[in-house]
Amino acid sequence: MEHKLTFTDYNEALKKNRLLGLRCQDCGAITVPPKLACSKCTSPSLEVVELSGTGAIKTFTKVHVPPEGRENEVPYIIVLVELDEGPWLMGNLAIDHAKTSMELIDKKVIMGHKIFPGDKYSQGESAGPLFRLTD
Ligand SMILES: [Zn+2]
Repeated sequence: MEHKLTFTDYNEALKKNRLLGLRCQDCGAITVPPKLACSKCTSPSLEVVELSGTGAIKTFTKVHVPPEGRENEVPYIIVLVELDEGPWLMGNLAIDHAKTSMELIDKKVIMGHKIFPGDKYSQGESAGPLFRLTD
């Protein structure tokens, strides 16, 4: 099997605030972040599509105990966003952690990105989704 969308290409697009995903040519589902096969039906027939980066928060968590190397970021907020195209994507939320409440659920967001430094588990810095509230 070949990677239609490599992690490197996905990450380079994120750095330009562009969200790339894979549309299944068999069932139509969108897979993001990129995988070898459709996350719904496991078909390998995928095509690269650009996603809107907009969606709604479905759940969130406040992180107080960080992974190694991110000690100066806590507390920070991780959200699970249902994208307008269907898939759910995890990312950081740009918000004052003191302003979080259950009212965040179903709030509309748009994706930007944040650069994370590399650590002993990765091959250097990479980008990750950083969502902002739009309403
Ligand atoms: Zn599929």
